[in-house]
Amino acid sequence: MKKITDEAFLKEVATKAKDSNVVSNYASYPPYSGSGVCDVCNRSLSGVKAYVVPNRVFYNSPKWRARFKSINFMATDADIERMRNLDTSQGSAVCENCIHMF
Ligand SMILES: [Zn+2]
Repeated sequence: MKKITDEAFLKEVATKAKDSNVVSNYASYPPYSGSGVCDVCNRSLSGVKAYVVPNRVFYNSPKWRARFKSINFMATDADIERMRNLDTSQGSAVCENCIHMF
C-alpha cells in the first residue's frame, strides 16, 4: 500500500471520511496528484485523474474486496483484515477507472 504523507491531504481525507461512510460519493474524495501507482489496478498515476480514498472506506468496499479475492485466488476476509491492520497509511490512491468501487 502506498504511503501518502502530504499533511494537507491527510487532513482533508480525515474531514471527508466522516461523510463518506455509507454512500459512494467519490467526487467528494480529495484529488490525488502525486506520482506512484493506483492502489487497486497498479496503473501509473502520472497524468491520470486520481483520488485519495480513506482506508476505512477502501478496505470496506465490497467491490474492491471481491476484486481483490478474484485476483488473489487464496485470499480470504481474514487476509484482508490482516492487510488493513498492517496498513499504516491514512489513505489509498485510486485512479478514475477504479474509483467507482468506493
Ligand atoms: Zn486503478
